[in-house]
Amino acid sequence: MLKLPELTRAAAAIRVGALVGMPTETVYGLAADALDAAAVLRIFTAKGRPRFDPLIVHCADAEHAWTVAEPSPRARRLAATCWPGPLTLVLPRRPIVPDAVTSGLDSVAVRVPDHPLALALIRACGRPLAAPSANLFGRISPTCAAHVREQLGDAVAEILDGGPCRVGVESTVLRPDPTPLILRPGGLTRERIAEILDERVDLADRSVRAEHLALPAPGLLASHYAPRTPLRLRRSLEPWPDGAGWLAFTGRDLPRIGTAVEILSADGDLAEAAASVFAALRRLDAANLPLIVAELVPESGLGAAINDRLRRAAGLG
Ligand code: AMP
Ligand code: MG
Repeated sequence: MLKLPELTRAAAAIRVGALVGMPTETVYGLAADALDAAAVLRIFTAKGRPRFDPLIVHCADAEHAWTVAEPSPRARRLAATCWPGPLTLVLPRRPIVPDAVTSGLDSVAVRVPDHPLALALIRACGRPLAAPSANLFGRISPTCAAHVREQLGDAVAEILDGGPCRVGVESTVLRPDPTPLILRPGGLTRERIAEILDERVDLADRSVRAEHLALPAPGLLASHYAPRTPLRLRRSLEPWPDGAGWLAFTGRDLPRIGTAVEILSADGDLAEAAASVFAALRRLDAANLPLIVAELVPESGLGAAINDRLRRAAGLG
């Protein structure tokens, strides 16, 4: 196990109910002891997150995850192949999980993160960790420690710096039973899940997603992952507008001059695009422009997750 002074301090902070900024392979998390309801409520307060939006519980391995959630045959199969990794499973909860974590639902979302510091923290404090992304509610997710410090530096006892996140978009949230349904596209592709399960995997649309949460009003979560600057999607073949910030995929059809331009992957590599999309949005947001225009990427593979975040940043949930 890693023996860093900041890791020891972070584990001690978790044990007394404080919050810790935790790197994962997807984005940075704002972590608290998932079995301590008061600590979990501090997450909601720090983020300004509505209480009806349940949290993901991060565990050290599958056996640990089955102490908070009841596995099914599909869940066991996916866990054996995909954990540690960017797949969250929504399963029946066990009674030790506080209502604060699940927003009172009878299911709980669990995953095993693929990051040595996250796993070391979970093991060092001996607790499953509830951790949403470490940003203010509705804003852009953090993919490096500095992003966490900017928005939540005062709310955390410690930030573990694991460098930039490798995947860069949040985990795929899957309800495996009674039939596999993706509630949020993310770092593990639908194609890969279908291959592992050897069956059809559906992607929930917005209304189905809302049914799975204790949402007081439909559409409440439509605007998410959003910069302060107004953002709209680029219509196909539309010329890039002057004076706006541009978020382009490969940048191949960019005119020569631009105001503020971010290219997600010159090679058209969706993994590279996913790893850079949130930091690129933050840089464009910091440029104080009147508008950001973002181009969607191909919808296949990781493109589904990138486009989901861009649509929601544009308020199109
Ligand atoms: P995050 O903002 O990354 O913490 O995302 C957590 C998301 O996981 C929530 O917004 C839900 O979409 C999903 N989620 C968590 N718990 C559950 C649950 N019990 N049932 C359905 N979806 C869940
Ligand atoms: Mg989030």
